[in-house]
Amino acid sequence: MGKNKSISVVLQTCEKYKDDVQKQIKELKRCVSEGRKSGDILMLGAAYCYLAMAYSDEDDLRGMLLNALKAVTILKDTGEYDLLVRAYHVLGRAYIDQGNNQMSLVCDETAYGIVKRHRLKGQLRITALNNISVSYHAMDEPRKSIKYLNECLELLKKDYGEEYTDYFMYSVNLAGCHKDVGELERADEIFDSIYGLLDKVEFKPLVCDYYIRRAIVSYLREDIKAGNGYIDTALSSFPKNIYPLPLYDDLCEVSRFITNNKDRERSKRIFDLMTVFAENNEGTLEQLFATRMIANYYKNFGEYELATEYFSKCEELNERQMRELREMQMKLHNTTRSAEAEIRKLKRKMRENEDLVSRDPLSKLLNRSALLRVSSEFIESAAKKRQKVGVIFIDIDCFKECNDTYGHAKGDEIIRQVADVCRKRETKNVRFARYGGDEFFGITRGLTDGEVCDIARIICKDIRIADIPNEKNPNGGRLTLSAGVINVTITDKTDTILEIANYADKALYYAKNAGRNAIYELVHSDGGTNDTGSSAYIKIDF
Ligand code: GH3
Ligand code: MG
Repeated sequence: MGKNKSISVVLQTCEKYKDDVQKQIKELKRCVSEGRKSGDILMLGAAYCYLAMAYSDEDDLRGMLLNALKAVTILKDTGEYDLLVRAYHVLGRAYIDQGNNQMSLVCDETAYGIVKRHRLKGQLRITALNNISVSYHAMDEPRKSIKYLNECLELLKKDYGEEYTDYFMYSVNLAGCHKDVGELERADEIFDSIYGLLDKVEFKPLVCDYYIRRAIVSYLREDIKAGNGYIDTALSSFPKNIYPLPLYDDLCEVSRFITNNKDRERSKRIFDLMTVFAENNEGTLEQLFATRMIANYYKNFGEYELATEYFSKCEELNERQMRELREMQMKLHNTTRSAEAEIRKLKRKMRENEDLVSRDPLSKLLNRSALLRVSSEFIESAAKKRQKVGVIFIDIDCFKECNDTYGHAKGDEIIRQVADVCRKRETKNVRFARYGGDEFFGITRGLTDGEVCDIARIICKDIRIADIPNEKNPNGGRLTLSAGVINVTITDKTDTILEIANYADKALYYAKNAGRNAIYELVHSDGGTNDTGSSAYIKIDF
């Protein structure tokens, strides 16, 4: 299947089931098995990549991690940078959700490196910039975060003038980073600059986050009145069902100011929210955050027994999280290994497929088209290293008679036998092809004239030792071969295989005319094939 076709099968599957993620996952898994069966690495890589994205929509951390990891491993050397970057993005998000900030930064930096190196544009570049800034933020490096967010906003301004939500979100994050480095005025400036977009942003948790962060900045500037105003707006618009993780972070931070201010009423409102959150997020990182906030509330308002109870619950949750994290790491380790094994298998299959189309079915030697490929490789590298390229042209003597006497099937067997004898001489620098009918073609690089002649000599000798009957052969009634040999340096007269083969063919013709069962080498006095020197056919005894 063609390169684009493999990927478009996966894309079409995603598009077709975009409204039903479960079904999409099922169909993508089908693409995985199809890719695996047919040894189609691109289909497999694309399917894993989009599976990871589908799991991301489902908030299935495990599905994201495992599939993104496989996608990354598989797509690495395919040149499909767009897909590879997408896979790294999901993997990075999964790591960050898992609390593994270091790994997430590695993924995001790798993705961004690919984006830069291959000049990928558009949304992919913007996402890469944003992700890397999120990771730096998680790693407590707000300065770096600011740098990438600014780049991201610049691009967004240029390319996506109407993308309010993203622009708004990145700006809120940027203001948050400036707050982190103590640049409160700059943070407020940014908040002011996007104030006009508040009505246009449809994702309400973002609006809420804007007000919470603004409240934090106001409290830091010791403007309690303004802070309280922002927090009231935030709490009144607090989302009922969607609780993105950053909101917890920000709520934690803002609740510290509120309790410091001994503001029991606002603290209680956050406490009530957290109680619902903790119940709704059993077993997640969110539950841990919410429980910690509840514990702090009790501690700050003097209910120490309850505080202790909730703090120990936090400990428990923490331990559970750590355990799950460790288990997940183990699974990931195994997944990487199984993905690598899968790749090895696929590559082997691809090599076998390639082998199948480049081999002559009867002799299992290279066929003519593969010979052309290998020859140009040999000629190119030999020209660079100023090495010689040699050709050994071999033809079975009186093979027609052989067929007539013993039948065509026996003839086939003889072709296989001669091929086996040739194959035994193959090395990295010596390859054999079946040229057609009863003709065999050896090509060599970097060998001396003597070494090339030796190969021809050994093959003819091996056939003599095999003692195969061919009673109509006047040369002793056994099977014999004739061969023509040439070994030349590459000049503009000898830089195609046809030109070199032409000389070997002359030598073979000479051997046939000289009575068969013979090897002749065509030798030029100048070592090459320049017409200036004289040439001679030299008999090679065996
Ligand atoms: P010479 O010594 O001049 O080479 O004589 P020859 O009989 O070998 O003549 P030539 O090389 O021209 O003939 C090749 C013969 O090889 C002709 C054809 O019947 C036979 N041949 C070609 N391909 C195959 C094949 O795949 N299997 C078998 N059994 N015979 C083949
Ligand atoms: Mg022949």
